[in-house]
Amino acid sequence: MTRPLPLESYTWPPSNEELAARVGLTPSDMIRFDGNVPAAPPASARPAALARALADVNEYDRGRHEPLRRAIAKYHGLDVAQVALGAGSDEFIVLLARIFANGGTVATVPSRSYSMYRYAAIMAGATMVDDPSRADLVFVCRPNNPTGELVDVPDVAGQLVIDEAYAHYAGVDALDHLERGAIILRTFSKAFGLAGARVGYALASTQSIEVITSRQAPLSVSTLSAALALAAIATPPDVSEQVAERERLARELTELGLEPVPSFTNFLFVPMPNPSDLVERLLPYGLVTRAFGDGWRVSVRDEVDDDVLLDALRAELRGATPSSALVRHRRATAETILRVRLRPRGEGRVYVATGEGFYDHMLSQLAFHGGMDLRLEGVGDLETGDHHLVEDMMRAFGEALDRALGDRRGIARYGEARVPMDEAIAHAVVDLSGRAVSELDIDPDPGMATHAFESLAQTARITLHVTASGRNAHHVAEAAFKAVGRALAAAMTPSGSLVRSTKGSL
Ligand code: PMP
Repeated sequence: MTRPLPLESYTWPPSNEELAARVGLTPSDMIRFDGNVPAAPPASARPAALARALADVNEYDRGRHEPLRRAIAKYHGLDVAQVALGAGSDEFIVLLARIFANGGTVATVPSRSYSMYRYAAIMAGATMVDDPSRADLVFVCRPNNPTGELVDVPDVAGQLVIDEAYAHYAGVDALDHLERGAIILRTFSKAFGLAGARVGYALASTQSIEVITSRQAPLSVSTLSAALALAAIATPPDVSEQVAERERLARELTELGLEPVPSFTNFLFVPMPNPSDLVERLLPYGLVTRAFGDGWRVSVRDEVDDDVLLDALRAELRGATPSSALVRHRRATAETILRVRLRPRGEGRVYVATGEGFYDHMLSQLAFHGGMDLRLEGVGDLETGDHHLVEDMMRAFGEALDRALGDRRGIARYGEARVPMDEAIAHAVVDLSGRAVSELDIDPDPGMATHAFESLAQTARITLHVTASGRNAHHVAEAAFKAVGRALAAAMTPSGSLVRSTKGSL
């Protein structure tokens, strides 16, 4: 027997750990613009969504995740027998090449497309050909990766596979082609935000699904992943914000002389010679983008992350002074999952969305009146009340602030503010002491204000004194959050280059 040799195959770009080590950053500072996935998971991806699956994780799902297959069928208006599930749509790309092009020929439309089609052909011992009309199997990438363009579906004699990984962003589907024998591939990795869960599916005629399923491993999607996908499909993704952000990023890039091809996806492709040079120049900023032979590809993430990219490009291409760094922090427990991006001395660009409306509003007031740029998003177990979520949002914010303050060098250290709100008045005094102390008298407290400030003082390691009083609890809390924001801003004012302590350190 001859020993098999490794094939030329898909290689992942380096991990955050590896890239961060290369440029002297920490892994959490890296922003991936090379994966074409959303900047955050869907709100449905919470520990509670997994609870049932975990309770039965010792068992196989004998029905091959029938509830999920039914939900997918309903979503597309098809019969459940027209759906097959796999570990990502990559599973089907490999499988379909083996089924339809074993030792034969494969073509892609457009001719430059997703690299997996070629690797799948190699695995099937097939040859890539340029002319789709001559191929046994034709992958149509619609819209296309890496260029973002939307091609027409060609008429071909071979088996047609229409890969709609990014179809949500183009607002198209090729369901009409099922009747003519096409196989459509879809994924939960892109618009649904579940790339790590590895769930994809094929849509086809009942007969084709039987052909496919009979050649799959018995159950390649885990019960945990199926639970996440089922929770996600209950509220199908709304990509309108992403699409608007894509157009904004495209305009901003064009202004910088980087003209992207019109995109129907969640990424932009900019034709240029030697794109690796730009990729290398952006790495020290923690920005991971991707070079192709004749162009540069960037994922559209969200306004905050995309602004970091634009800022770095302005610095590199126009010699502008880059903004101060954005601290990125994530706090995940069984009760809450929260993501924070914070620039303590910013412009008051604030977005706080955890689902706990009142304290989202309070923390927004603190950050806005503190002149910070803050984006804090996440979910929590509100069904148990607001305690966990409010505590954790303040802890997540405090932890990010502590990281941003670093060794607390070159800032004023002390700050004080007095803020009225109608009949209520609040007084806040802060010392960025490195010691977690809170003395709080908030009367009446609408519920969680006192505990919120305790959590902040503990995690940001600050000394915080707050007195606030009035007749309306909302006014009292709002005055207190604003006063703390203003006091923090005063304490963070630049002052010399030393640590403001006769001890020399805090
Ligand atoms: N098709 C295309 C066009 C893609 O870009 C990708 C992922 N990069 C995939 C399929 C595979 O997606 P997944 O295996 O995560 O479903």
